[in-house]
Amino acid sequence: MGCLEGKVMLVTGAGRGIGRDIARLAAKEGAAVVVNDLGGSTEGEGADAGPAEAVAGEIRAANGRAFANTDSVVDPAGAERMVKTAVEQFGRIDCVVNNAGILRDRIFHRMSHVDWKMVIDVHLMGSFNVARAAAEHFRQQQSGSYVHFTSTSGLVGNFGQANYAAAKLGIVGLSKSIALDMARFNVRSNCISPFAWSRMIGTIPTETPEEKARVERVKTMSTEKIAPMAVFLAGDLSAGVSGQIFAVRRNEIFLMSQPRPLRSIQRGEGWTPQTIAEHAIPALKTSFYPLERSGDVFSWDPI
Ligand code: NAD
Repeated sequence: MGCLEGKVMLVTGAGRGIGRDIARLAAKEGAAVVVNDLGGSTEGEGADAGPAEAVAGEIRAANGRAFANTDSVVDPAGAERMVKTAVEQFGRIDCVVNNAGILRDRIFHRMSHVDWKMVIDVHLMGSFNVARAAAEHFRQQQSGSYVHFTSTSGLVGNFGQANYAAAKLGIVGLSKSIALDMARFNVRSNCISPFAWSRMIGTIPTETPEEKARVERVKTMSTEKIAPMAVFLAGDLSAGVSGQIFAVRRNEIFLMSQPRPLRSIQRGEGWTPQTIAEHAIPALKTSFYPLERSGDVFSWDPI
């Protein structure tokens, strides 16, 4: 018996990369899978039914159950159709994996409103649209699991990704809010922050020797290493796990921190800008975070 026997899972962006491996492992573990993928470019242009249909076909060829859907997560009606497809084809919906994504990296002063909006639309709006479409089913059946994809580009930081970082941290807030609001219905929500070589990462600019070396390290991290955590979080094996953020990098799993007060300072008479400079900042400064990028924090080679 697989750990997702009898479950129905919707995976967005499952035509390629990380999503494809999640869909394939979920099917192997017994789930019926709606394989969603719009099939556009890394920057979110165009559409192609090929990737979603190929993955669904591949799963069926291996005696699994899968159905392709090529709607965009950006379209609320499309998100409704994805969930409807799960219910019509397989009778129910148990897990939603919000994995679809695009990148439009630009240094901030050159980031256009279109770059900003398209990335927010696919990641943040898309995650909301699909999560919301499944919520009523989850509430009625008193069970369900959401797995959302965030990134250390948001959790830690990175150059040229203001749109992506904002969207990915927005997803962390979305996941936590769903976990809080839907705990009463036995519904869970968690985030994965993956590291994996996919076509998306192939777009990282590699100009300096350090950047080139970093990308060579990323190339050793295959997308299939992310799937076990997503499948674990989707099913009953993870009962009791909700509101968490896990990073996965090849054979490493990290539980990521969540913001809490680090230090505090009080002054009975209240503060002026001058006393903040003279008193509060020297006291708080020893706990300031350096302006680090993801690669500064995950500075060692993946295991
Ligand atoms: P990928 O480009 O290989 O796959 C993303 C898939 O999403 C593509 O097949 C694409 O067609 C699909 N997609 C894009 N827009 C869509 C839309 N509007 N509707 C439906 N499908 C759409 O990328 P990946 O690396 O497998 O990324 C998967 C997720 O993991 C993304 O959310 C990404 O931000 C996140 N992530 C990846 C890494 C990494 O190291 N690869 C790091 C951090 C976060």
